[in-house]
Amino acid sequence: MNLQDHIGAPVVVQSTTLSPGRKSQWIAAALRYLFLGNGVMSSNCCEAGCFLSGQHNSPDLEILTLFQTNRHPHAVELASILMHPESKGTVTINPHNPSGPPLIDPQYLTAPGDADLLLTGVERIRSIVNRPALRRFGLTSEILPGSMEGGEFLRDHASTYHHPVGTCRMGSDDLSVVDPRLKVRGLNNLWVVDNSIIPAIPAAHTAATAIVIAEKAADILKKDLFRV
Ligand SMILES: Cc1cc2nc3c(=O)[nH]c(=O)nc-3n(C[C@H](O)[C@H](O)[C@H](O)COP(=O)(O)OP(=O)(O)OC[C@H]3O[C@@H](n4cnc5c(N)ncnc54)[C@H](O)[C@@H]3O)c2cc1C
Repeated sequence: MNLQDHIGAPVVVQSTTLSPGRKSQWIAAALRYLFLGNGVMSSNCCEAGCFLSGQHNSPDLEILTLFQTNRHPHAVELASILMHPESKGTVTINPHNPSGPPLIDPQYLTAPGDADLLLTGVERIRSIVNRPALRRFGLTSEILPGSMEGGEFLRDHASTYHHPVGTCRMGSDDLSVVDPRLKVRGLNNLWVVDNSIIPAIPAAHTAATAIVIAEKAADILKKDLFRV
């Protein structure tokens, strides 16, 4: 229960410049970086982004630019990403093979409203892309979603942004998996230290959260295990 993840949908726009995401560009890019220290390999791949506020106290949507998309040889990609999805998935033991891999069902976009909100972000991106200020970057026609219907487009192109959290939720209630000191309820010597303890997905990418959890866990374990 409580598997939460950020799902995003791409807007891909044809560009007059060759996408550096193309494999044929890699050697030139590597040489440029080696000798001049600049170019695509000096980039973090997604230099620009923004968060859009909505009904929550924190952002509802993130817009991320990916100038090095490999979805098309001459294109840039901007993604609309849902920050607070209502849809929640499950991770369960496979009853036919209990010691094998778990069954993971993310249930993306099953809650009413999630798909509409994601498509709102897509529309915002479309309006940004068409602004005169971006013309000098050579953006031309839209490749995705293009003429696809919203539902069909999301089914084919929405994807995870790799931020799964929540399946060992921390809390003080009986249904939470770990207590506020990260110890698994009902067991004496088992703690969970990763993003699965997050009760509700943050409106942010999740690497920093994992580091904070690990730092806090180190303090907790020093106290609880070693009395330091
Ligand atoms: C492709 C990709 C790109 C990402 N980009 C970004 C980004 O740009 N910015 C950002 O903030 N976040 C990013 N993230 C998310 C970020 O990496 C994760 O949120 C973070 O690493 C989660 O940390 P974690 O400790 O919870 O899990 P993990 O980092 O997945 O660590 C889990 C560890 O447990 C180990 N393990 C698994 N099963 C067992 C087992 N049975 N026994 C023992 N060990 C086990 C695994 O080997 C792994 O080392 C990205 C994730 C992916 C996949």
